[in-house]
Amino acid sequence: MVARFGGDEFAIIQSGIKSAADAEKLAKRIVEIVGKPYRDKGREMHVGVSLGIALYPGDGRDADTLLTNADMALYRGKSEGRNVYRFFEPGMDALMRERRALEADLEAALPKREFELDFQPILNIGSGEIVGAEALMRWRSPSRGLVSPENFIAAAEETGLIVQLGDWALRKACSVAAHWPPEMRMAVNVSAAQIKSGGFARSVISALAFSGLPANRLELEITETVMMDESDAVLRTLSQLRGLGVRIALDDFGTGYSSLGYLRRFPVDKIKIDRSFIRDLDRRDTAAIVRTVIGLGAELGITVTAEGVETEAQLDMLRKAGCGQAQGYLIGVPAKAADMSRLLRSQALLRQSG
Ligand code: C2E
Ligand code: MG
Ligand code: MG
Repeated sequence: MVARFGGDEFAIIQSGIKSAADAEKLAKRIVEIVGKPYRDKGREMHVGVSLGIALYPGDGRDADTLLTNADMALYRGKSEGRNVYRFFEPGMDALMRERRALEADLEAALPKREFELDFQPILNIGSGEIVGAEALMRWRSPSRGLVSPENFIAAAEETGLIVQLGDWALRKACSVAAHWPPEMRMAVNVSAAQIKSGGFARSVISALAFSGLPANRLELEITETVMMDESDAVLRTLSQLRGLGVRIALDDFGTGYSSLGYLRRFPVDKIKIDRSFIRDLDRRDTAAIVRTVIGLGAELGITVTAEGVETEAQLDMLRKAGCGQAQGYLIGVPAKAADMSRLLRSQALLRQSG
């Protein structure tokens, strides 16, 4: 029996089955059949479907419990990718409760001003000078302690809070950079969800206007997931900002599809080679890849920054390969705004005194 709950949500009651394998067979068929492309006015269309499965009586003895548990399995399946089916497992509800609690805490944390930005210096390898910094978000939660972005950005993206949170980071980072020596750039990480939200260009323009930071001193770090978005709206937004002088950097380069097509579809100002490559620079194959990306940047006139530089040997190799910039613990760990400002000002003074 198939029922529509509303929107794009359906429920199926499969009765008279002998084992989980029977449910799995049906789920597989549904994924396969719904997933088949079809044509509409000559255009090929794709519809995906994900399923969560709860079995009576093991996963629940009443309709409510079965539905809740099937929903939980669905939620988990979706987080792992589309066009999947997933059986409910005990423990999923504990994980889900944890996630919900995290999301609720996050939501409350913004008005309570529990977020902070640290700043990590970026080195121009050729001149040996710091040329700017990247703003990195931290969450100082009274109950959870200091939470790293790896543990909360995904949840903030899921709930949509990232739009407000990212807006806050942008404003804060621009205000800090406005007090730095005039040649210093500020890099801010941006999630795909922010750009898709619609008001992103306005949010950037207002952060610049509010702080007085010139557009060409702001760099937005985006990942490939932003580029993978097929919609022109995203690329239009980025083009508009780039037109104002804002720089666009491709973060974590090499970890996703690293399609060179992105570099043709949208001209970026910077490529940041992911730190997993720098960590393995002593491997011949990895070194070859890094040298090739540096060469690619040179050919295209794109700045290349190596992320996660931790040793002199790595920096030395990067220098020899002609890499433009380096960032990592060797150059400096993420620091508080006041410490970063002090560092930048003393560098400016040093330069003036020759
Ligand atoms: P990312 O943008 O690639 O930032 C670099 C990460 O590498 C930072 O981790 C930094 O602390 C770490 N790192 C820097 N140098 C080294 C090194 O030499 N060795 C090692 N092992 N690590 C190094 P962090 O601060 O935990 O941030 C993780 C990720 O969270 C960032 O990766 C970025 O994708 C995301 N993120 C941070 N702040 C924001 C934000 O304001 N908005 C959004 N949307 N994402 C953010
Ligand atoms: Mg980054
Ligand atoms: Mg990165």
